[in-house]
Amino acid sequence: MSSTPETKLSESHTDNKKVPVSTGMPEYISLDKWADTGYEWSGDVEPSIFKRLEAILSTEHEQKEISISANLYRHNNVLHLSFTLTGNVWLTCQRCLQPVAIELSDDYNIALLEQESQVRLVDEEQDYLLLEEIITEQSPESLLPFKKLVEDEILLKTPMAPKHDDCEMTVEQFGEIPEEEESENPFAALASLKGKL
Ligand SMILES: [Zn+2]
Repeated sequence: MSSTPETKLSESHTDNKKVPVSTGMPEYISLDKWADTGYEWSGDVEPSIFKRLEAILSTEHEQKEISISANLYRHNNVLHLSFTLTGNVWLTCQRCLQPVAIELSDDYNIALLEQESQVRLVDEEQDYLLLEEIITEQSPESLLPFKKLVEDEILLKTPMAPKHDDCEMTVEQFGEIPEEEESENPFAALASLKGKL
């Protein structure tokens, strides 16, 4: 870890004293620069800046900005990325095909392990990732893919098949959704039989 890296990535904004929120969410956080001192970022972003999320957003409903407040810090000598999301996204209900709001508001926290052995230093319930597995960018700097990590958590929070709690209108119009009796896995039945023997 040299304190004077020879190659500095030229960033789009060289003056980092007063960066207006509208410059957008940083793609990466330089760990060389910030891992020791800590780093904070907050701002409001359009859901569509996350390209994998954008693919499943409803186009039938206006999307609102999501507020993000993030903090990179060390605890117990382990690097953590925590962030709070406030907002929701509109996806498509898989039952009635109308827009359905999915709440994202929550506190998220990921421990970023420099070595696998650090797993002993975090709580059992603590989510963690190995830094060597998430830093894939070829660069002289160690760059944490901040935006990607936030998007990953959003996608994890998002149900695979979003549905309204209540789609009564549609059920009345089109009748009950047929149960999937036919398509049941024959091996599942076998397994349950086996359990009884
Ligand atoms: Zn629905």
